[in-house]
Amino acid sequence: MSPKKNEMPSQAPNMRNKNFDEVALGYTEEQAIDEAERCLNCKNRPCVSGCPVEIDIPAFIGEIASGNYESAYDVLTSSSSLPAVCGRVCPQESQCEAKCVRGIKGEPVGIGRLERFAADYHLANSDASPTRPTANGHKAAVIGSGPAGLTCAGDLARKGYDVTVFEALHTAGGVLVYGIPEFRLPKEIVKNEIDNLKKLGVKIETNMVIGKTLSIDELFDKGFEAVFIGSGAGLPRFMNIPGENLNGVYSANEFLTRVNLMKSYTESSDTPLHRAKKVAVVGGGNVAMDAARCAKRLGADEVYIVYRRSDTELPARAEEVEHAKEEGVVFKLLCNPTEIIGDDKFFVKAMNCVEMQLGEPDESGRRRPVVKDGSEFTLDVDCVIMAIGTSPNPLIKSTTEGLDAAKWGGIVADDEGRTSRAGVFAGGDAVTGAATVILAMGAGKKAAAAMDEYIKER
Ligand SMILES: Cc1cc2nc3c(=O)[nH]c(=O)nc-3n(C[C@H](O)[C@H](O)[C@H](O)COP(=O)(O)OP(=O)(O)OC[C@H]3O[C@@H](n4cnc5c(N)ncnc54)[C@H](O)[C@@H]3O)c2cc1C
Ligand code: SF4
Repeated sequence: MSPKKNEMPSQAPNMRNKNFDEVALGYTEEQAIDEAERCLNCKNRPCVSGCPVEIDIPAFIGEIASGNYESAYDVLTSSSSLPAVCGRVCPQESQCEAKCVRGIKGEPVGIGRLERFAADYHLANSDASPTRPTANGHKAAVIGSGPAGLTCAGDLARKGYDVTVFEALHTAGGVLVYGIPEFRLPKEIVKNEIDNLKKLGVKIETNMVIGKTLSIDELFDKGFEAVFIGSGAGLPRFMNIPGENLNGVYSANEFLTRVNLMKSYTESSDTPLHRAKKVAVVGGGNVAMDAARCAKRLGADEVYIVYRRSDTELPARAEEVEHAKEEGVVFKLLCNPTEIIGDDKFFVKAMNCVEMQLGEPDESGRRRPVVKDGSEFTLDVDCVIMAIGTSPNPLIKSTTEGLDAAKWGGIVADDEGRTSRAGVFAGGDAVTGAATVILAMGAGKKAAAAMDEYIKER
């Protein structure tokens, strides 16, 4: 038995950095069975304890090993409403795969790759529609159509609720459609998962900004008995350095929304992007990697990741960093911007930076970056993308009486999603700040159970 995972077939770096097609191509049946046979079907199932939605991992892998791909899909969907998404974007290396006993003496079982295989097999081969459950006569509302909202809506619909999702944007999916690029998560996959929810009876109303178009109180007036807030953390942060208002400076959110949702890389896009030649992306997380890899695909000759700590502190997944490097993104580590310089027409022409060195650990336990004396230098760039974090938008909190939020903006909710306001539940990035798809899904699931209990006890 191989100590290594079956490799994921992928587009070659030099080809993929010029197109938006998916990078990873997925296992063949042969590869999937071979990988599934690496699973030891451990009695105490350590991998399951690493999965926030507790998928029965050995069971679905066992079905793949026996060639029962549809049964594998059924096991997956009994715990997760978005397996094709999670198989692609979950940080398995720090969750289920981190706990896999196969990882002790070699590489863990490729759980995420197998999840993707079973979900893709189902999408390609099955036209079975989910059956609509019997209505229970109760109405619930969900704000936001990201993974938290979609999971909550799906779970409530399966219990027979009449569920409506209210989404501010013109397309449903949250970060799955506006943030994560097509080459990591094709939008057709997300659309398919959303269509399945609609077949369960979930209604989705787009262009509905709750807090503006309708308030939470108005939702209750319309007969919704409980409301889930899954509005994410989409408010970008900036560095507050001179020059951030110049043309050619974007938040990663704006840049990625234009690219992913508005397809600004196509000739026919209504919202084209200025095709920059030298791009600096400030930040070192997954969002920064996505922005840098998109900039490269849009035709930039040079793309830099500018990050103030060293490579050991880079918060992005190791795989994303490696992919970005393979595609030609240059890492300027221990480097911090101090000012963005514009030309006489107020377009970006350069960015002043300083070199950093690592000092004593700060509150986060990571070594604090401090400026190196006399290390100022200028980077010639015509575009700067700020990817230094986001926080929840205050709109819903400020228009909903009795809804508590933390100082930093997150809505206060208990482990089951109950907020300070009766009948109002919350989860996902709106509560935790920027986190992961699977944690948002886990929160949506718990809140759906708590909403069911609340409505039945009324
Ligand atoms: C670029 C990028 C890449 C990422 N990559 C990964 C990854 O590879 N793996 C991973 O696990 N995680 C990744 N994440 C994080 C992950 O996507 C989020 O943690 C997750 O999407 C949070 O889900 P959510 O449902 O809480 O919020 P969101 O996905 O943000 O969805 C919230 C939705 O609510 C809507 N909304 C907001 N306010 C209102 C309102 N007032 N009224 C109505 N609707 C409203 C928004 O338009 C949005 O559609 C990434 C994030 C970004 C930005
Ligand atoms: S820990 Fe690894 S080997 Fe054991 S059941 Fe889970 S996936 Fe299989």
